[in-house]
Amino acid sequence: MQNSLIGFIGAGNMTHAIISGLINNNTNHNQIKISDTNEALLLLRKTEFNIEIFTDNTKLATQCSTIIFAVKPQVLSSVCKNLKNKLTTNTLIISIAAGVRSHDIERWLGGNQAIIRTMPNTPALLNQGITGLFANKQVSNKQKFLAENILNSVGECLWVNDEYLLNAITAVSGSGPAYFFLMLESMTKAGVTLGLDEVVAQKLSIQTALGASMMASRSKDSPQQLRNKVTSKNGTTQAAIESLQNQDFEIIIAHAIRAASDKSNKIG
Ligand code: NAD
Repeated sequence: MQNSLIGFIGAGNMTHAIISGLINNNTNHNQIKISDTNEALLLLRKTEFNIEIFTDNTKLATQCSTIIFAVKPQVLSSVCKNLKNKLTTNTLIISIAAGVRSHDIERWLGGNQAIIRTMPNTPALLNQGITGLFANKQVSNKQKFLAENILNSVGECLWVNDEYLLNAITAVSGSGPAYFFLMLESMTKAGVTLGLDEVVAQKLSIQTALGASMMASRSKDSPQQLRNKVTSKNGTTQAAIESLQNQDFEIIIAHAIRAASDKSNKIG
C-alpha cells in the first residue's frame, strides 16, 4: 500500500484528539479514515471532520498505508486477529494501546509487520501531550518520521530503543497527570484548612502549577535550580520544603513511580 492514507481503528477520545491535531496542522481530511463498532460515534466524527467512516476494520485497513490502533488494550487482540494476514508488509501500524507489546501485535497480525508502539498521555487531548515511541526492526526511517509527525500534532515525542523503557515512560508521563491532580487536590484541601474558600484555594493551586510548569519548561535552569532560586534561607518556602523532605517526599514519589512501572511491566 503506497499511499499516504491514515486509518484510525477506534473513534474515541484519543482518536478525536489526534485527528483534531492533524487537521489543525493542515493534514487534508481526505487523507484520514476511521472505523469503529459504534455507528453513532462514527457519524459524529464524520460531521466533525468530514472524513470517510467504516464499520468494518478490514475495509479501512486494506486501504490505508498507516493504521493507528486506538482501541482499548483488552480488545486489541481481537481487532488484530481479524486483520491477520490481510495487511501488506509495507503497512505501518501505530498502536497507542497501553501495555500491549509490539511482538504480540505482530504475532496476532501474522508476523513481519512494521509496528510502532507508543505511550501518549491525557494532555494530548489539549495538544499538550508527550508520547514515548518504540519502533520494531521492520520500521523504516521514513515511517518513523511519519509517526512522529502524527503524534507531534498532539504534543511532543521521544523515542526509546528498548521497548521495556515504555514501562518507565508509562510510570512517569502516562500516569503522571494523576500525580499532579493529587498534588492539586492536596494543596486545595490544605488551603481550605487554613481558611480559604475551596474555589479560591483550587484556583491558586491550579494557576501555580501552570505557572511553575511553564517556568520549568522555558527556563535553562533545572527544576532543582529553580527551586533553590525561590527558596530563601529561613523563609516560608524553605519551611514547607523542609517539612516535605523530612517526610521523605522524594522516596514517596520514587516508590509510586516504581509501582506504576512494575504494574505496566506486568500488564505488557
Ligand atoms: P475510547 O474508549 O474513548 O475509544 C475506544 C474506541 O474503540 C471506542 O469508540 C469503541 O467503540 C471502539 N472500539 C471498541 N471495539 C472496537 C472494535 N472491535 N473495532 C473498532 N473500534 C472498536 O478510548 P481512548 O481514551 O480513545 O483510548 C484509546 C487507546 O488509547 C486505549 O488503548 C488507551 O490505553 C490509549 N491511551 C489513552 C489515553 C487517554 O488519555 N485517553 C492515554 C494514553 C493511552
